[in-house]
Amino acid sequence: MLPRHPAHFVIVGAGAAGLMTARELARAGKRVTILEARERCGGRIYPLPTQEFGYPPEGGAEFVHGAAPFTRALMREARLSLSPLEGTRWNARRGALSPGESPTPHAGRLHRALRTLKTDLPIAEFLKTHFAGRQYSELRRTITRMVEGYDAADPSRASTFSIRDELMERGNGQQGRIAGGYGALIEYLESECHRYGASIHLDAAVGAIDARRERVAARCHGGTVFEADAAILTVPLPLLPEIALPAAAREKAATSADIGFGNVVKILLRFATKWWADNGRRHLADLSFLFSSATVPTWWTQHPAGYPVLTGWLAGPKADRVARLDTSELVEVGLTSLAEIFDRSLDRLRQDLVTSQAINWGNDPFARGAYSYATTKTREAQSALKKPDGGAVFFSGEALYAGRDMGTVEAALASGRETARTILAARP
Ligand SMILES: Cc1cc2nc3c(=O)[nH]c(=O)nc-3n(C[C@H](O)[C@H](O)[C@H](O)COP(=O)(O)OP(=O)(O)OC[C@H]3O[C@@H](n4cnc5c(N)ncnc54)[C@H](O)[C@@H]3O)c2cc1C
Repeated sequence: MLPRHPAHFVIVGAGAAGLMTARELARAGKRVTILEARERCGGRIYPLPTQEFGYPPEGGAEFVHGAAPFTRALMREARLSLSPLEGTRWNARRGALSPGESPTPHAGRLHRALRTLKTDLPIAEFLKTHFAGRQYSELRRTITRMVEGYDAADPSRASTFSIRDELMERGNGQQGRIAGGYGALIEYLESECHRYGASIHLDAAVGAIDARRERVAARCHGGTVFEADAAILTVPLPLLPEIALPAAAREKAATSADIGFGNVVKILLRFATKWWADNGRRHLADLSFLFSSATVPTWWTQHPAGYPVLTGWLAGPKADRVARLDTSELVEVGLTSLAEIFDRSLDRLRQDLVTSQAINWGNDPFARGAYSYATTKTREAQSALKKPDGGAVFFSGEALYAGRDMGTVEAALASGRETARTILAARP
């Protein structure tokens, strides 16, 4: 049971959602204790060492997508600017590189079919029902690649309604990176939490939340116990079943199985030179993104910044297939993909390599994947998880955000703020 006037909150997880909830509650005069399993704040915002790559590289979130009002407002507060994405996108197909976005084949027909769809269904089923013919094979490939590669989603589960929103509203807002990286945003939120008196405990992995007589106790794996009036869980969805919860909260948490959660492998390769800028007959000096059908299909540069770094991206069910590979094996897969795309010798690429990093988020013990996506049952599950029920355990985080930007930092910030507002509005 939540007491009439809860004054002290324990927040599990110091990612964007946890820190945002904490800042809002602490600013409103509440006592806040944040428990974070890692030795750092930020969660899936993960800045890698600047000295290794020459700039603040991102092991996790990197781009600000679309309008992102909460992110941009926080950036303004923190006096952080956006470096817009520039440059040319390239496609690698059948051994040839060509500039520009390849248009979605049969786009008109696809949009008509999406617009008239009355009942949601998984996107794979939608494609099978409406675009089964041989002439649509390229369309099926394009949509499947987008769903897997961008949403990190399994097409046999991903909601067609949510893909429709994504396709129809593409291109809204300027895309970019935060100058100084997402880490600067986390540093700002952390400093705000401290300013308003919240305490942050690192290396504090919570294994259980007990609720008794209008109090909760968060039990850490090391044996430390933190008591408060209520607990807010902001851990990634796959971690929820691993935290023992009071019966009512456990029942609620079970609905999270209806929210999709996909994986990403991110590979960062720093070379001695920007060799791709002058690649035989093709001059890719302003290369931004490159799409291919190699094992690691998507690559990008830091353009307009000139760092000789290529970032590889393997997402969705395909990322699960490399679960057993260690960092150096993943780097090797990345190099092999580049050799294939650019028709360049693997030995030469190895010789040019200065430093590398590869992160399989599915193997991260405090993430177990990259980010959430909507299935046909997700909106219902989100409502159930967010509904205040008089209990003292709340849920927050990117996966609970019901807007279009699910799975993003924006979603985490918006969810964190919504959770704090709900709590403050209910119990003044
Ligand atoms: C590779 C990758 C690329 C991405 N790219 C982008 C991008 O370009 N743009 C974008 O907007 N978003 C991107 N995202 C998504 C974005 O990073 C997340 O949506 C967002 O950071 C999630 O924030 P959160 O606070 O909800 O969760 P998290 O950041 O995961 O925070 C939850 C915290 O809980 C902690 N925790 C877990 N278990 C426990 C426990 N038992 N006890 C205590 N603490 C615990 C975790 O360590 C973590 O710090 C990307 C994510 C990944 C992985």
